[in-house]
Amino acid sequence: MHEINHSRSFPFLGLSLSVVGRPFFIFHRRLSVVGFLFFIVWCRLSVVRFSFFILLCCLLIAPPVAALAEAPTSAPISFNTNFDGGSLGKIECLSDTHFRCAVRGEYNYQGRNRQASWYYFRMDNVRGRDITIELTDLVGEYDNRPGAIAIKKTTRPVFSSDGKTWQHFESMDYDDKEAKAILHFRLTHDRIWIAHIQPYTSRDLQSLLDSVRGSPDLRIETIGKTAQGRDLLLLTVTNFARPDTNKKVVWLVARQHAWESGGSFVAEGAIRLILSGDPEARRLRDRVIFKFIPMADPDGVARGGVRFNANGYDVNRHWEEVDLRDPKSLAAMPEIWYMKKAIVDFARSERPIDLLLYLHNEEDNDWISGAPVSDPAFQKLVERFYDLLMAETTFDGRQRPSNRPDSLSGTSLALYQAAKVPAVLMEQKVTMNKRLGRLPTAADRVEFGKALIRCMARAVLNAER
Ligand SMILES: [Zn+2]
Repeated sequence: MHEINHSRSFPFLGLSLSVVGRPFFIFHRRLSVVGFLFFIVWCRLSVVRFSFFILLCCLLIAPPVAALAEAPTSAPISFNTNFDGGSLGKIECLSDTHFRCAVRGEYNYQGRNRQASWYYFRMDNVRGRDITIELTDLVGEYDNRPGAIAIKKTTRPVFSSDGKTWQHFESMDYDDKEAKAILHFRLTHDRIWIAHIQPYTSRDLQSLLDSVRGSPDLRIETIGKTAQGRDLLLLTVTNFARPDTNKKVVWLVARQHAWESGGSFVAEGAIRLILSGDPEARRLRDRVIFKFIPMADPDGVARGGVRFNANGYDVNRHWEEVDLRDPKSLAAMPEIWYMKKAIVDFARSERPIDLLLYLHNEEDNDWISGAPVSDPAFQKLVERFYDLLMAETTFDGRQRPSNRPDSLSGTSLALYQAAKVPAVLMEQKVTMNKRLGRLPTAADRVEFGKALIRCMARAVLNAER
């Protein structure tokens, strides 16, 4: 992909070339020569006349500068998904500025359950143009029921002009009949990145780890390799100088589903808080062992996947089928196999796990759910945890866990059956959070993560299990 160098700037106007454009840079050079000549003349003029002259120059220059800043780039608009997490299906050009873009979606190993809930792409040469993007091919299948649509009127995309800072589009049209989302925009810069929600890739995780590495209370280990050979990481945070004898244990797992980047921002907030110098975090490190699996499907995250590993298996299902003595399970679903082994081995041979939470995103609701088992202590823990979330965080879950149908995920049931692990699924919506009063941003997720890890620790420290 051809990259344009935007690094030169106009110090006298404080505008960058990316805003004003190359033609004006040449114009500016000429202007500098003219300016110098006028400077010589100025030596012979009075201050008042000179000030009037400068004002006149500004009035004459301002309109063409503004016009140039808005002027459309002449190069054709191009699309790019050749980066971590990038994904888009077929692109049809309806005109120079109107594009129909299919959401790629992903099928499982049986060619079923296509889910179209992730797109992340960059467009170049968009400056000063009225652009229309139609997002199509949104209809998929969920739990073998055709017709599921994950991208809806309420799931407004995010955009960025630098690939780092993101915000939601102010509006999006939605055509219910054809099931397509329509975006209109006009920008004063050349590039735009567009995504379903703010992306979080292995590179983001790496910068988090680089910033906390070296902490005496942190250990990072690799528990296995994914289907495509990427590392599956496990972080342990506790005060290692203190004996583990009376410590409680909590686990937090993020990103079983690749598109659900919200969980990664939550995990990042939790990891940052618990490793910080915050007085409560210090006290908690003395009393609790925190375990984090920050990215359960790095293959899916890298390729811009949805919910299946590289072999087409849903990383939040199949946990019961995965037999730790069976090499076929390991070959087909290494992510589940290594995670299950790490969790079960720990619970069986080191200490019982007091609470394990695995983070997910969906469209419409915040909710938590434990395993469908008859264990009053487990149910009590889930209810207590829910009360803490509602009292101390922006969790927008209006339905108590006891009033919800049981989770279908299989992760919590498998872990309970294998090692009595009280594993709880948390779903968080990508649409309006009424308690926040807005569509949740990445910063909101990070803040939530900080509050969440405190709630998890408090829930187990006050437990009667
Ligand atoms: Zn999920």
